[in-house]
Amino acid sequence: MTPKGDMTRPYWDMAVEPFLDSADMRERQWDKLKHRLSEAYSRAPYWRRRFDVAGVDPQTLQDREDFARRVPLFTKDDYRELAEANHGDMRKILFELMGGESNELVAVAATSGTSGDPTPYPLTSRDLRLWGELVRRAVWRAGLRPGDWVLQGFGLSMFLAGVPVCMALAEMGICAIPVGAEASTAALLKYARLFRPRGMFCTPSLAEYLIQTAEQEDIDLGSLGIETIFCGGEPGAGIPSVRARIENAFGAKLLDFAGGLGASCGCEPYAGMHWLVDDLAMMELVDPVSHELIPLNEGAEGLAVFTPLEAPGLLGIRQTNGDIMRVHTKPCACGQSGWRYEIIGRNDDMLKIKGVMVYPAAIEGVIKAFVPRVTGVFRIVLSEPPPRVKPPLRLRVERGDQLRDADLPSLEKEIVETMQRKLKIRPQIEWRAAGSLPRSTKKTQLLEKEYQA
Ligand SMILES: [Zn+2]
Repeated sequence: MTPKGDMTRPYWDMAVEPFLDSADMRERQWDKLKHRLSEAYSRAPYWRRRFDVAGVDPQTLQDREDFARRVPLFTKDDYRELAEANHGDMRKILFELMGGESNELVAVAATSGTSGDPTPYPLTSRDLRLWGELVRRAVWRAGLRPGDWVLQGFGLSMFLAGVPVCMALAEMGICAIPVGAEASTAALLKYARLFRPRGMFCTPSLAEYLIQTAEQEDIDLGSLGIETIFCGGEPGAGIPSVRARIENAFGAKLLDFAGGLGASCGCEPYAGMHWLVDDLAMMELVDPVSHELIPLNEGAEGLAVFTPLEAPGLLGIRQTNGDIMRVHTKPCACGQSGWRYEIIGRNDDMLKIKGVMVYPAAIEGVIKAFVPRVTGVFRIVLSEPPPRVKPPLRLRVERGDQLRDADLPSLEKEIVETMQRKLKIRPQIEWRAAGSLPRSTKKTQLLEKEYQA
């Protein structure tokens, strides 16, 4: 928190944000990191054991490279193992991770637990400061000020962006109207009309439901007075068609706030999310397979790894949630500080072809751009377990039903050349008739496995 100060200042925290991504900031990060590691080692049984097993004395780490080389990643599987070893006893699990500070929580949230038990987000006041500064810096940059009202349309039940966001906003004097995603779209619209908030938090899919409901009930969303919509929880602002639909319907700016500790800036075309908390957390990129450190240079891609520099509970040391990111370090057209990142895939579905990382979502993006000459339905055929694929990568692609046989070779050439240019791969295409590949009402499985799992 900083004092109220000048309401026209460009950043919420003028002592920190003008200096994001500077040499001075990196030095401060390193000092804070060393302190945080020593603290974790002396207070939290789990981290002490982990460092001991890795043969790391936090006091002897030389620099960031040394830290990255010697301290292993903390993955979902590591958490699961810890939880199982403690028979799911949350008090014990949190004591292992946080020591005595596990008795100082001021809020708690958790993942949805779609694949097993939910993972907790325990927040002490130091964790709430990290989360809160992220929220406050993001909303200040978007033009919201103390005295403003914001409609809270994220889930209020256990979601990290639910109640903890309301708490973060309250600290800067912004009033969240806690309707929540659990309420009906009609209720959200009712309170939006009643309170006329300047901002709104919600997932992009909820914003789209609101558009549907408003159409049915003949409500003009543009008249609600909402100027900024903060989305998160799933990709939104980064997908041009989704962004355009929501922005046009509400007459508002759509900003992203997901996957890391930052927010997008409204640049057109989409410029990714600015990392906003150099003083409170560190992000590294590593090779998804070897876990070797990848320098944060313009265009670098890799598995995102997070380490909070003060907060003991929200995230572990070198924690990864499986997001693959691309970073941009060139100054942004918006002129605001902070390098940028965008989420380009999930570690679980990465493919590696002659050292080139490719994600099914990226391949889908190229194929879909050729509709109607293709139907858009395709499969990636794997003859060995991923991520390594022996080239060429095989794609089974449905041709469009109007496409003439004579046009097939030139279409194939165009697709392969586009893949080469955009993704650095030259796939081999096996054509299939329109409608011949199986359809599913659930999430489409793009991988076809021709090996025994
Ligand atoms: Zn920007």
